[in-house]
Amino acid sequence: MPAGSLGINASRLNDNLDALGDDWHHDEGCTAWWRSRALRHPRRVRNYVIELMQSAGLSVRIDAAGNIIGRIEGTDPSLPAIVLGSHTDTVPAGGRYDGALGVIAAIEVVQAIKDSGRTSRHPVEVVVFTNEEGTGFHRWLLGSRAVAGLWEPEDFSAVGDDGVALASRLPDLGGNISRIDEARRRPDELACYLELHIEQGPTLHRGGFPIGVVTGITGRSVYHIDIVGEANHAGTTPMSLRRDAMSAAAQVALAVRHIAGEMEVCRVGTVGSMEVHPNAANVIPGRVVLGCEFRDERMESLAAAEVELRRTAEEVAHAEQVAITVTAQRNTPSVPISSNMQQLIADATGLAGLEHISLPSGAGHDAQAIATVTPSAMVFVPSVGGISHAPAEYTTPEDCANGAQVLLNAMALADER
Ligand SMILES: [Zn+2]
Repeated sequence: MPAGSLGINASRLNDNLDALGDDWHHDEGCTAWWRSRALRHPRRVRNYVIELMQSAGLSVRIDAAGNIIGRIEGTDPSLPAIVLGSHTDTVPAGGRYDGALGVIAAIEVVQAIKDSGRTSRHPVEVVVFTNEEGTGFHRWLLGSRAVAGLWEPEDFSAVGDDGVALASRLPDLGGNISRIDEARRRPDELACYLELHIEQGPTLHRGGFPIGVVTGITGRSVYHIDIVGEANHAGTTPMSLRRDAMSAAAQVALAVRHIAGEMEVCRVGTVGSMEVHPNAANVIPGRVVLGCEFRDERMESLAAAEVELRRTAEEVAHAEQVAITVTAQRNTPSVPISSNMQQLIADATGLAGLEHISLPSGAGHDAQAIATVTPSAMVFVPSVGGISHAPAEYTTPEDCANGAQVLLNAMALADER
């Protein structure tokens, strides 16, 4: 099966992608694509994907995490599987390409091989991972972390926004929380993992590049910042005697922007949430709680950003006569993609006659969990206007087809190597 000799069917790919998007749209009866609210994943959607898998010759099973796994054997039974995959759930009111493109393209790759009458040496698996976005349970990468054996105690005890426990919901998808260990895969079962995804950022679209080779998946550190001052009368307390938690919070928020912005300590920094107590216009705020995060591909940069955040918090606390507690909440390590795996995607892009640039992924993906088990790589295609996690998310049919072709070429190259 010489790499570069096979072609995907672009119209079939885009028709299947459209059918998936339309189905959800109507099924959920809302104005955007909102799939898998707390795992209430429309059965019709799962069935549609399973039917596509079966017609591509994949035999389908559901693992204990509810992941849908299609597999086709290769000519050499001694070889481990090449895995292609992504997810079909979305954030609330999300778009129709995030995750869905990777799944439909993976099935198209297998269908294209079947149409050619050829067979790969390795077995090929297509995996639809359960609840990548974490919507409903606030536990993301549920399916891929189960495959990687990375479930945490909070996953087992998770309760959805609708009050239903994950343990009770998983059987609806064919999963079983008490047997979650059975979803775990051994490194020797897998040859590599390849995922096509929309960029979800502006770099490719703005630069006019059809393909992005992902260099690594961003790490993320999250902080809870609790600022305690003194609530008092907004009319009678002189400015010089105030211990205003809001003034301090504003300075911390600007500092976070400064750390990632002008100082370039890390790639991005955000204060995304704020609770104000007592939250009345005529009361000096006595307490403000901020939710803050930093992201970068290098863990050293995240560590440096934390040092700077704590230093600034101390300064502001002193100047404003408030107490500031910075608590590290979650640290998601960055996942580098090996130069070999990056080269595989670059070569696959060249075989398709396309240009690429290399770029890091600012968003999290199933690949970051799977990369802990097997060599993994990601292909990005442009998101028009850099918009994602919104109904306006759009990738042109041509770009979708380019991405699927690169995925097919990469799979064929991996099969040779
Ligand atoms: Zn995604």
